[in-house]
Amino acid sequence: MNSSNWIGGDWITPAKECLEVINPSQLTNQVGVLHLSDPEMALQAADAANKAQPGWGKLPSAKRGEYLFQVANLLMEHLEEVSLLASSEMGKPLGEMRGEVMRGIQILRYYAGEGVRANGSVIPANEANILQYTKRVPLGVVAIITPWNFPVAIPIWKIAPALICGNTIVWKPAETASLTATRLVQIFAEAQLPPGVLNLVIGVGSVVGTALLEKADLDGVSFTGSDVTGLRIAAACAQRNIKYQTEMGGKNAAIVLRDANLEKTIPQLLSGAFRSAGQKCTATSRIIVEENAYEPLLEGLSKSVSALKAGSALDETAYLGPVASKAQWEKVKAYGHLSEKDGEIIAQGSCSVDPTSGYFIAPKIVTGIPVEHALAQEEIFGPLAVILRARDFEASIELCNKTVYGLSASLYTQDLTKAMRFMEEAQAGLLKVNQETAGVEYQAPFGGMKLSSSHSREQGTSALEFYSQVKTCSVYF
Ligand code: NAD
Repeated sequence: MNSSNWIGGDWITPAKECLEVINPSQLTNQVGVLHLSDPEMALQAADAANKAQPGWGKLPSAKRGEYLFQVANLLMEHLEEVSLLASSEMGKPLGEMRGEVMRGIQILRYYAGEGVRANGSVIPANEANILQYTKRVPLGVVAIITPWNFPVAIPIWKIAPALICGNTIVWKPAETASLTATRLVQIFAEAQLPPGVLNLVIGVGSVVGTALLEKADLDGVSFTGSDVTGLRIAAACAQRNIKYQTEMGGKNAAIVLRDANLEKTIPQLLSGAFRSAGQKCTATSRIIVEENAYEPLLEGLSKSVSALKAGSALDETAYLGPVASKAQWEKVKAYGHLSEKDGEIIAQGSCSVDPTSGYFIAPKIVTGIPVEHALAQEEIFGPLAVILRARDFEASIELCNKTVYGLSASLYTQDLTKAMRFMEEAQAGLLKVNQETAGVEYQAPFGGMKLSSSHSREQGTSALEFYSQVKTCSVYF
Protein backbone atom coordinates (compact mmCIF):
# COMPACT_ATOMS: atom_id res chain seq x y z
CA MET A 1 0.00 0.00 0.00
CA ASN A 2 1.12 3.61 -0.65
CA SER A 3 0.38 6.48 1.70
CA SER A 4 -1.38 9.49 0.25
CA ASN A 5 -2.56 12.91 1.37
CA TRP A 6 -6.24 13.84 1.25
CA ILE A 7 -6.56 17.57 0.72
CA GLY A 8 -9.77 19.40 -0.17
CA GLY A 9 -11.36 16.10 -1.23
CA ASP A 10 -8.50 15.09 -3.59
CA TRP A 11 -5.95 12.34 -3.14
CA ILE A 12 -2.51 13.87 -3.67
CA THR A 13 0.63 11.74 -3.45
CA PRO A 14 3.80 13.77 -2.93
CA ALA A 15 6.46 12.59 -5.36
CA LYS A 16 9.72 13.93 -3.90
CA GLU A 17 10.58 11.84 -0.87
CA CYS A 18 9.66 8.25 -0.02
CA LEU A 19 10.29 5.84 2.87
CA GLU A 20 9.85 2.06 2.89
CA VAL A 21 7.47 0.76 5.56
CA ILE A 22 8.93 -2.42 7.07
CA ASN A 23 6.85 -4.91 9.05
CA PRO A 24 8.32 -4.90 12.60
CA SER A 25 7.37 -8.59 12.97
CA GLN A 26 9.23 -9.59 9.81
CA LEU A 27 12.00 -7.26 8.66
CA THR A 28 12.16 -8.81 5.19
CA ASN A 29 8.52 -7.86 4.55
CA GLN A 30 7.82 -4.43 3.08
CA VAL A 31 4.26 -3.35 3.92
CA GLY A 32 4.20 -0.26 1.73
CA VAL A 33 5.69 3.12 0.92
CA LEU A 34 5.33 6.47 2.66
CA HIS A 35 5.26 9.57 0.50
CA LEU A 36 6.45 12.47 2.59
CA SER A 37 4.94 15.92 2.23
CA ASP A 38 6.75 19.23 2.14
CA PRO A 39 5.68 22.18 4.32
CA GLU A 40 3.75 23.70 1.40
CA MET A 41 1.36 20.73 1.35
CA ALA A 42 0.61 21.12 5.04
CA LEU A 43 -0.37 24.74 4.38
CA GLN A 44 -2.54 23.68 1.42
CA ALA A 45 -4.34 21.28 3.73
CA ALA A 46 -4.94 24.06 6.28
CA ASP A 47 -6.30 26.31 3.50
CA ALA A 48 -8.70 23.57 2.40
CA ALA A 49 -9.87 23.16 6.01
CA ASN A 50 -10.41 26.93 6.34
CA LYS A 51 -12.49 27.01 3.16
CA ALA A 52 -14.67 24.11 4.27
CA GLN A 53 -15.23 25.22 7.86
CA PRO A 54 -18.07 27.75 7.50
CA GLY A 55 -20.26 25.28 5.57
CA TRP A 56 -19.52 22.35 7.87
CA GLY A 57 -19.95 24.49 10.99
CA LYS A 58 -23.42 25.62 9.85
CA LEU A 59 -24.67 22.09 9.21
CA PRO A 60 -26.97 20.92 12.05
CA SER A 61 -24.90 18.77 14.39
CA ALA A 62 -27.33 15.85 13.98
CA LYS A 63 -26.51 15.89 10.24
CA ARG A 64 -22.80 15.88 11.04
CA GLY A 65 -23.51 12.88 13.27
CA GLU A 66 -25.01 10.98 10.31
CA TYR A 67 -21.60 11.07 8.61
CA LEU A 68 -19.98 9.65 11.75
CA PHE A 69 -22.56 6.83 11.90
CA GLN A 70 -21.78 6.06 8.27
CA VAL A 71 -18.01 5.98 8.95
CA ALA A 72 -18.66 3.64 11.91
CA ASN A 73 -20.66 1.27 9.69
CA LEU A 74 -17.98 1.22 7.00
CA LEU A 75 -15.19 0.70 9.54
CA MET A 76 -17.17 -2.24 10.94
CA GLU A 77 -17.25 -3.76 7.44
CA HIS A 78 -13.48 -3.31 7.15
CA LEU A 79 -12.57 -4.19 10.75
CA GLU A 80 -10.43 -7.22 9.91
CA GLU A 81 -8.61 -5.58 7.02
CA VAL A 82 -7.80 -2.36 8.93
CA SER A 83 -6.64 -4.40 11.95
CA LEU A 84 -4.35 -6.51 9.77
CA LEU A 85 -2.84 -3.45 8.12
CA ALA A 86 -2.17 -1.72 11.44
CA SER A 87 -0.69 -4.88 13.00
CA SER A 88 1.64 -5.25 10.02
CA GLU A 89 2.61 -1.59 10.07
CA MET A 90 3.32 -1.02 13.79
CA GLY A 91 3.35 -4.48 15.35
CA LYS A 92 0.38 -4.43 17.72
CA PRO A 93 -0.91 -8.01 18.09
CA LEU A 94 -3.91 -8.67 15.85
CA GLY A 95 -6.28 -9.50 18.72
CA GLU A 96 -5.48 -6.21 20.48
CA MET A 97 -5.72 -4.35 17.18
CA ARG A 98 -9.21 -5.73 16.51
CA GLY A 99 -10.22 -4.51 19.96
CA GLU A 100 -8.78 -1.09 19.17
CA VAL A 101 -10.66 -0.78 15.87
CA MET A 102 -13.85 -1.84 17.67
CA ARG A 103 -13.15 0.90 20.23
CA GLY A 104 -12.82 3.37 17.33
CA ILE A 105 -16.24 2.29 16.05
CA GLN A 106 -17.81 2.76 19.49
CA ILE A 107 -16.27 6.24 19.79
CA LEU A 108 -17.64 7.23 16.37
CA ARG A 109 -21.11 6.11 17.41
CA TYR A 110 -20.85 7.85 20.78
CA TYR A 111 -19.98 11.23 19.23
CA ALA A 112 -22.49 10.74 16.40
CA GLY A 113 -25.07 10.54 19.21
CA GLU A 114 -23.71 13.75 20.75
CA GLY A 115 -24.93 15.44 17.55
CA VAL A 116 -28.43 15.40 19.00
CA ARG A 117 -27.35 16.13 22.57
CA ALA A 118 -24.36 18.51 22.69
CA ASN A 119 -25.87 21.91 23.28
CA GLY A 120 -25.87 24.82 25.68
CA SER A 121 -28.10 25.55 28.63
CA VAL A 122 -30.67 28.08 29.78
CA ILE A 123 -29.53 30.10 32.82
CA PRO A 124 -32.15 31.90 34.92
CA ALA A 125 -31.68 35.70 34.70
CA ASN A 126 -31.99 38.02 37.72
CA GLU A 127 -33.95 40.60 35.71
CA ALA A 128 -37.46 40.00 34.32
CA ASN A 129 -38.05 39.45 30.59
CA ILE A 130 -34.50 38.36 29.88
CA LEU A 131 -33.73 35.04 28.25
CA GLN A 132 -30.17 34.08 29.15
CA TYR A 133 -28.62 31.01 27.57
CA THR A 134 -25.38 29.55 26.31
CA LYS A 135 -24.72 27.97 22.96
CA ARG A 136 -21.76 26.02 21.64
CA VAL A 137 -20.01 27.10 18.46
CA PRO A 138 -17.11 25.38 16.72
CA LEU A 139 -13.53 26.30 17.54
CA GLY A 140 -12.79 26.49 13.79
CA VAL A 141 -9.89 24.67 12.14
CA VAL A 142 -7.96 22.21 14.27
CA ALA A 143 -4.69 20.40 13.65
CA ILE A 144 -4.68 16.88 15.04
CA ILE A 145 -1.22 15.40 15.62
CA THR A 146 -1.15 11.77 16.70
CA PRO A 147 1.30 9.05 17.82
CA TRP A 148 1.68 5.55 16.41
CA ASN A 149 0.87 3.41 19.43
CA PHE A 150 -2.94 3.59 19.04
CA PRO A 151 -3.10 4.17 15.29
CA VAL A 152 -6.91 4.00 15.09
CA ALA A 153 -8.45 4.81 18.49
CA ILE A 154 -6.46 7.97 19.31
CA PRO A 155 -7.06 9.65 15.94
CA ILE A 156 -10.77 8.78 16.14
CA TRP A 157 -11.13 10.06 19.70
CA LYS A 158 -9.93 13.43 18.41
CA ILE A 159 -11.48 13.48 14.91
CA ALA A 160 -14.99 12.42 15.99
CA PRO A 161 -15.59 15.10 18.67
CA ALA A 162 -13.87 17.73 16.50
CA LEU A 163 -16.23 16.97 13.60
CA ILE A 164 -19.40 16.75 15.67
CA CYS A 165 -18.65 20.20 17.11
CA GLY A 166 -18.41 21.65 13.57
CA ASN A 167 -14.65 21.96 13.19
CA THR A 168 -12.66 21.08 10.13
CA ILE A 169 -9.37 19.22 10.47
CA VAL A 170 -5.81 18.83 9.29
CA TRP A 171 -4.60 15.47 10.56
CA LYS A 172 -0.87 14.74 10.80
CA PRO A 173 -0.43 11.10 11.88
CA ALA A 174 2.83 9.59 13.14
CA GLU A 175 5.21 8.39 10.45
CA THR A 176 5.01 4.82 11.84
CA ALA A 177 1.21 4.69 11.44
CA SER A 178 0.69 6.59 8.18
CA LEU A 179 -0.51 3.67 6.04
CA THR A 180 -3.22 2.93 8.59
CA ALA A 181 -4.08 6.65 8.62
CA THR A 182 -4.43 6.66 4.82
CA ARG A 183 -6.75 3.63 4.97
CA LEU A 184 -8.83 5.22 7.72
CA VAL A 185 -9.26 8.44 5.74
CA GLN A 186 -10.26 6.40 2.67
CA ILE A 187 -13.15 5.17 4.80
CA PHE A 188 -14.12 8.75 5.75
CA ALA A 189 -13.99 9.57 2.01
CA GLU A 190 -16.21 6.59 1.22
CA ALA A 191 -18.74 7.99 3.71
CA GLN A 192 -18.95 11.08 1.44
CA LEU A 193 -17.56 13.53 4.00
CA PRO A 194 -17.65 16.91 2.19
CA PRO A 195 -14.31 18.02 0.63
CA GLY A 196 -11.94 19.86 2.96
CA VAL A 197 -13.70 18.82 6.19
CA LEU A 198 -11.00 16.28 7.03
CA ASN A 199 -7.55 16.68 5.46
CA LEU A 200 -4.67 14.26 5.85
CA VAL A 201 -1.01 15.21 5.53
CA ILE A 202 1.62 12.49 5.79
CA GLY A 203 5.12 13.58 6.69
CA VAL A 204 7.90 14.03 9.19
CA GLY A 205 6.78 15.79 12.37
CA SER A 206 9.56 18.35 12.42
CA VAL A 207 8.77 19.32 8.79
CA VAL A 208 5.00 19.11 8.40
CA GLY A 209 4.16 19.68 12.07
CA THR A 210 6.41 22.72 12.30
CA ALA A 211 4.85 24.25 9.16
CA LEU A 212 1.38 23.78 10.62
CA LEU A 213 2.30 25.24 14.00
CA GLU A 214 4.25 28.21 12.70
CA LYS A 215 2.40 29.25 9.56
CA ALA A 216 -1.03 27.66 9.15
CA ASP A 217 -4.24 29.48 9.99
CA LEU A 218 -5.39 27.34 12.93
CA ASP A 219 -7.77 27.77 15.84
CA GLY A 220 -6.77 24.70 17.82
CA VAL A 221 -4.18 21.93 18.09
CA SER A 222 -4.82 18.58 19.72
CA PHE A 223 -1.64 16.58 20.24
CA THR A 224 -0.80 13.19 21.70
CA GLY A 225 2.81 12.02 21.84
CA SER A 226 6.02 12.47 23.80
CA ASP A 227 6.54 15.27 26.30
CA VAL A 228 9.52 16.60 24.31
CA THR A 229 7.29 17.25 21.27
CA GLY A 230 4.29 18.25 23.39
CA LEU A 231 6.16 21.01 25.20
CA ARG A 232 7.41 22.35 21.88
CA ILE A 233 3.85 22.36 20.54
CA ALA A 234 2.49 24.07 23.65
CA ALA A 235 5.11 26.84 23.34
CA ALA A 236 4.40 27.35 19.62
CA CYS A 237 0.64 27.53 20.23
CA ALA A 238 0.97 29.89 23.19
CA GLN A 239 3.01 32.26 21.03
CA ARG A 240 0.19 32.49 18.46
CA ASN A 241 -2.68 32.29 20.96
CA ILE A 242 -3.92 28.99 19.51
CA LYS A 243 -5.95 26.81 21.89
CA TYR A 244 -4.07 23.57 22.53
CA GLN A 245 -4.35 20.24 24.23
CA THR A 246 -1.27 18.07 24.80
CA GLU A 247 -1.48 14.48 26.06
CA MET A 248 1.98 13.13 26.78
CA GLY A 249 3.93 10.39 28.51
CA GLY A 250 3.58 8.46 31.74
CA LYS A 251 5.59 6.51 34.31
CA ASN A 252 2.65 4.72 35.79
CA ALA A 253 2.76 2.90 39.11
CA ALA A 254 0.84 -0.13 40.30
CA ILE A 255 0.98 -0.35 44.11
CA VAL A 256 0.61 -3.84 45.59
CA LEU A 257 -0.25 -3.82 49.31
CA ARG A 258 0.27 -6.74 51.68
CA ASP A 259 -3.44 -7.67 51.61
CA ALA A 260 -3.69 -7.76 47.80
CA ASN A 261 -5.09 -10.89 46.20
CA LEU A 262 -1.93 -11.91 44.31
CA GLU A 263 -3.65 -14.55 42.22
CA LYS A 264 -5.81 -11.84 40.65
CA THR A 265 -3.18 -9.08 40.78
CA ILE A 266 -0.31 -10.80 38.94
CA PRO A 267 -2.12 -11.33 35.59
CA GLN A 268 -3.16 -7.66 35.67
CA LEU A 269 0.39 -6.49 36.36
CA LEU A 270 1.60 -8.55 33.40
CA SER A 271 -1.10 -7.21 31.12
CA GLY A 272 -0.48 -3.60 32.22
CA ALA A 273 3.27 -3.91 31.75
CA PHE A 274 3.59 -6.11 28.66
CA ARG A 275 0.50 -6.00 26.44
CA SER A 276 1.24 -3.89 23.34
CA ALA A 277 4.90 -4.58 24.26
CA GLY A 278 4.61 -1.92 26.99
CA GLN A 279 3.98 0.78 24.39
CA LYS A 280 0.96 2.37 26.04
CA CYS A 281 1.08 5.78 27.71
CA THR A 282 -0.79 4.12 30.60
CA ALA A 283 1.44 1.00 30.75
CA THR A 284 2.48 -0.24 34.19
CA SER A 285 6.08 0.84 34.32
CA ARG A 286 6.71 0.74 38.08
CA ILE A 287 5.45 -1.95 40.45
CA ILE A 288 5.58 -0.63 44.00
CA VAL A 289 5.24 -3.39 46.55
CA GLU A 290 4.70 -3.19 50.29
CA GLU A 291 7.51 -4.95 52.15
CA ASN A 292 5.50 -7.96 53.42
CA ALA A 293 4.18 -8.78 49.95
CA TYR A 294 7.60 -8.55 48.24
CA GLU A 295 8.73 -12.20 48.39
CA PRO A 296 5.42 -13.83 47.37
CA LEU A 297 4.89 -11.27 44.60
CA LEU A 298 8.40 -11.79 43.28
CA GLU A 299 7.95 -15.53 43.26
CA GLY A 300 4.61 -15.29 41.43
CA LEU A 301 5.90 -12.76 38.91
CA SER A 302 9.07 -14.72 38.08
CA LYS A 303 7.03 -17.82 37.32
CA SER A 304 4.47 -15.97 35.19
CA VAL A 305 6.89 -13.72 33.30
CA SER A 306 9.12 -16.63 32.31
CA ALA A 307 6.12 -18.17 30.52
CA LEU A 308 5.49 -15.05 28.38
CA LYS A 309 6.56 -15.09 24.76
CA ALA A 310 7.05 -12.27 22.28
CA GLY A 311 6.14 -13.25 18.73
CA SER A 312 4.74 -12.02 15.45
CA ALA A 313 1.85 -9.56 15.70
CA LEU A 314 -0.14 -11.96 13.53
CA ASP A 315 0.51 -14.95 15.81
CA GLU A 316 -2.53 -14.97 18.05
CA THR A 317 -0.78 -17.13 20.66
CA ALA A 318 1.99 -14.56 21.30
CA TYR A 319 1.47 -12.52 24.49
CA LEU A 320 3.22 -9.50 22.99
CA GLY A 321 4.37 -8.46 19.55
CA PRO A 322 7.53 -6.65 18.50
CA VAL A 323 8.16 -3.01 19.37
CA ALA A 324 7.11 -0.69 16.57
CA SER A 325 10.34 0.49 14.97
CA LYS A 326 14.12 0.31 14.92
CA ALA A 327 14.31 3.52 16.98
CA GLN A 328 12.03 1.96 19.64
CA TRP A 329 14.03 -1.28 19.60
CA GLU A 330 17.33 0.53 20.12
CA LYS A 331 15.92 2.69 22.91
CA VAL A 332 14.37 -0.22 24.84
CA LYS A 333 17.47 -2.41 24.34
CA ALA A 334 19.59 0.38 25.89
CA TYR A 335 17.32 0.38 28.96
CA GLY A 336 17.76 -3.43 29.09
CA HIS A 337 21.55 -3.01 29.21
CA LEU A 338 21.20 -0.39 31.92
CA SER A 339 19.05 -2.85 33.92
CA GLU A 340 21.81 -5.49 33.75
CA LYS A 341 24.45 -2.94 34.74
CA ASP A 342 22.69 -1.13 37.61
CA GLY A 343 19.96 -3.51 38.77
CA GLU A 344 18.94 -7.14 38.73
CA ILE A 345 16.63 -8.71 36.14
CA ILE A 346 14.52 -10.98 38.32
CA ALA A 347 12.13 -12.22 35.68
CA GLN A 348 12.42 -12.55 31.95
CA GLY A 349 10.27 -14.01 29.18
CA SER A 350 11.43 -15.18 25.77
CA CYS A 351 10.73 -14.92 22.05
CA SER A 352 8.83 -17.60 20.13
CA VAL A 353 10.59 -16.61 16.89
CA ASP A 354 14.15 -15.78 15.86
CA PRO A 355 14.58 -12.49 17.77
CA THR A 356 16.60 -10.99 14.91
CA SER A 357 13.75 -11.49 12.39
CA GLY A 358 11.81 -8.54 13.83
CA TYR A 359 12.02 -5.87 16.54
CA PHE A 360 11.37 -8.40 19.31
CA ILE A 361 12.27 -7.80 22.94
CA ALA A 362 11.59 -10.35 25.67
CA PRO A 363 9.63 -8.92 28.64
CA LYS A 364 11.66 -8.14 31.77
CA ILE A 365 11.17 -7.17 35.39
CA VAL A 366 14.01 -5.37 37.13
CA THR A 367 14.69 -4.77 40.79
CA GLY A 368 17.47 -3.33 42.96
CA ILE A 369 17.42 0.26 41.70
CA PRO A 370 16.66 3.40 43.72
CA VAL A 371 13.64 5.56 42.88
CA GLU A 372 15.87 8.34 41.50
CA HIS A 373 17.40 6.00 38.87
CA ALA A 374 16.63 6.61 35.17
CA LEU A 375 14.86 3.22 34.99
CA ALA A 376 12.41 4.37 37.65
CA GLN A 377 12.02 7.90 36.28
CA GLU A 378 12.13 7.86 32.48
CA GLU A 379 9.35 6.63 30.22
CA ILE A 380 10.78 3.42 28.66
CA PHE A 381 7.79 2.62 26.42
CA GLY A 382 8.75 -1.02 26.07
CA PRO A 383 8.32 -4.39 27.81
CA LEU A 384 10.38 -3.55 30.89
CA ALA A 385 8.95 -2.82 34.33
CA VAL A 386 10.79 -2.03 37.56
CA ILE A 387 9.91 -3.12 41.09
CA LEU A 388 10.35 -0.69 43.99
CA ARG A 389 9.94 -1.74 47.63
CA ALA A 390 7.93 0.37 50.06
CA ARG A 391 7.96 0.21 53.87
CA ASP A 392 4.20 0.72 54.16
CA PHE A 393 1.15 2.25 52.47
CA GLU A 394 2.27 5.86 53.10
CA ALA A 395 5.72 5.16 51.64
CA SER A 396 4.15 3.51 48.60
CA ILE A 397 2.09 6.64 47.83
CA GLU A 398 5.22 8.75 48.24
CA LEU A 399 7.08 6.57 45.70
CA CYS A 400 4.09 6.62 43.36
CA ASN A 401 4.15 10.43 43.30
CA LYS A 402 7.93 10.70 42.91
CA THR A 403 7.85 11.29 39.18
CA VAL A 404 7.40 14.24 36.85
CA TYR A 405 4.51 12.39 35.20
CA GLY A 406 0.94 11.87 36.40
CA LEU A 407 -1.04 9.85 33.90
CA SER A 408 -2.36 6.73 35.61
CA ALA A 409 -1.84 4.69 38.78
CA SER A 410 -3.44 1.69 40.42
CA LEU A 411 -3.69 0.21 43.86
CA TYR A 412 -4.21 -3.46 44.71
CA THR A 413 -5.76 -3.93 48.14
CA GLN A 414 -8.81 -5.22 49.96
CA ASP A 415 -8.87 -2.24 52.30
CA LEU A 416 -11.49 0.30 51.21
CA THR A 417 -10.12 3.02 53.50
CA LYS A 418 -6.73 2.78 51.84
CA ALA A 419 -8.37 2.71 48.42
CA MET A 420 -10.15 5.98 49.19
CA ARG A 421 -6.95 7.57 50.56
CA PHE A 422 -5.20 6.53 47.34
CA MET A 423 -7.88 8.40 45.36
CA GLU A 424 -7.13 11.50 47.48
CA GLU A 425 -3.34 11.35 47.53
CA ALA A 426 -2.09 9.75 44.31
CA GLN A 427 -1.13 12.34 41.69
CA ALA A 428 -2.50 10.99 38.42
CA GLY A 429 -5.39 11.75 36.09
CA LEU A 430 -6.57 8.14 35.96
CA LEU A 431 -6.74 6.19 39.23
CA LYS A 432 -7.80 2.57 39.47
CA VAL A 433 -8.30 0.14 42.33
CA ASN A 434 -7.80 -3.59 41.72
CA GLN A 435 -7.51 -2.94 37.95
CA GLU A 436 -4.52 -2.45 35.71
CA THR A 437 -3.13 1.03 35.05
CA ALA A 438 -3.94 0.81 31.34
CA GLY A 439 -7.41 1.29 29.91
CA VAL A 440 -10.32 3.63 30.40
CA GLU A 441 -13.83 3.59 28.96
CA TYR A 442 -14.44 5.92 26.03
CA GLN A 443 -17.28 7.82 27.68
CA ALA A 444 -15.11 8.78 30.69
CA PRO A 445 -12.72 11.76 30.69
CA PHE A 446 -9.10 10.85 29.99
CA GLY A 447 -5.91 12.83 30.62
CA GLY A 448 -3.11 13.32 33.08
CA MET A 449 -1.63 15.60 35.73
CA LYS A 450 1.85 17.15 35.91
CA LEU A 451 4.01 16.59 32.78
CA SER A 452 1.55 14.04 31.33
CA SER A 453 -0.96 16.58 30.11
CA SER A 454 -1.86 20.20 29.62
CA HIS A 455 -4.77 19.41 31.98
CA SER A 456 -7.67 19.43 29.56
CA ARG A 457 -9.42 16.10 29.12
CA GLU A 458 -10.12 13.93 26.10
CA GLN A 459 -13.00 11.47 25.55
CA GLY A 460 -16.57 11.65 26.80
CA THR A 461 -18.27 15.02 26.96
CA SER A 462 -14.99 16.59 28.18
CA ALA A 463 -13.68 16.49 24.61
CA LEU A 464 -16.57 18.72 23.53
CA GLU A 465 -15.22 21.45 25.84
CA PHE A 466 -11.97 21.52 23.89
CA TYR A 467 -13.47 21.44 20.41
CA SER A 468 -16.13 24.12 20.97
CA GLN A 469 -16.47 27.65 22.30
CA VAL A 470 -19.34 28.81 24.48
CA LYS A 471 -21.29 31.99 23.73
CA THR A 472 -23.37 33.45 26.55
CA CYS A 473 -26.45 35.06 25.04
CA SER A 474 -28.84 37.45 26.78
CA VAL A 475 -32.03 38.52 25.00
CA TYR A 476 -34.40 41.27 26.25
CA PHE A 477 -37.72 42.12 24.58
P1 NAD B 1 6.29 11.82 19.23
O1 NAD B 1 6.20 12.99 20.14
O2 NAD B 1 7.58 11.45 18.67
O3 NAD B 1 5.33 12.05 17.97
C1 NAD B 1 3.94 12.32 18.10
C2 NAD B 1 3.48 13.08 16.87
O4 NAD B 1 4.10 14.37 16.85
C3 NAD B 1 3.86 12.41 15.54
O5 NAD B 1 2.81 12.58 14.61
C4 NAD B 1 5.09 13.19 15.11
O6 NAD B 1 5.32 13.16 13.72
C5 NAD B 1 4.71 14.59 15.57
N1 NAD B 1 5.85 15.50 15.75
C6 NAD B 1 7.13 15.18 16.03
N2 NAD B 1 7.87 16.30 16.10
C7 NAD B 1 7.04 17.35 15.86
C8 NAD B 1 7.21 18.76 15.81
N3 NAD B 1 8.40 19.33 16.01
N4 NAD B 1 6.14 19.53 15.55
C9 NAD B 1 4.92 18.95 15.35
N5 NAD B 1 4.70 17.63 15.38
C10 NAD B 1 5.74 16.83 15.64
O7 NAD B 1 5.60 10.60 20.00
P2 NAD B 1 5.46 9.07 19.51
O8 NAD B 1 6.79 8.41 19.60
O9 NAD B 1 4.73 9.02 18.21
O10 NAD B 1 4.48 8.47 20.60
C11 NAD B 1 4.90 7.94 21.81
C12 NAD B 1 4.62 8.90 22.94
O11 NAD B 1 3.24 9.22 22.95
C13 NAD B 1 4.92 8.33 24.31
O12 NAD B 1 5.58 9.30 25.07
C14 NAD B 1 3.54 8.07 24.90
O13 NAD B 1 3.46 8.10 26.30
C15 NAD B 1 2.75 9.17 24.29
N6 NAD B 1 1.32 8.87 24.31
C16 NAD B 1 0.52 9.56 25.19
C17 NAD B 1 -0.83 9.27 25.27
C18 NAD B 1 -1.73 10.04 26.20
O14 NAD B 1 -2.93 10.05 25.98
N7 NAD B 1 -1.20 10.67 27.22
C19 NAD B 1 -1.37 8.28 24.46
C20 NAD B 1 -0.53 7.59 23.57
C21 NAD B 1 0.82 7.90 23.50
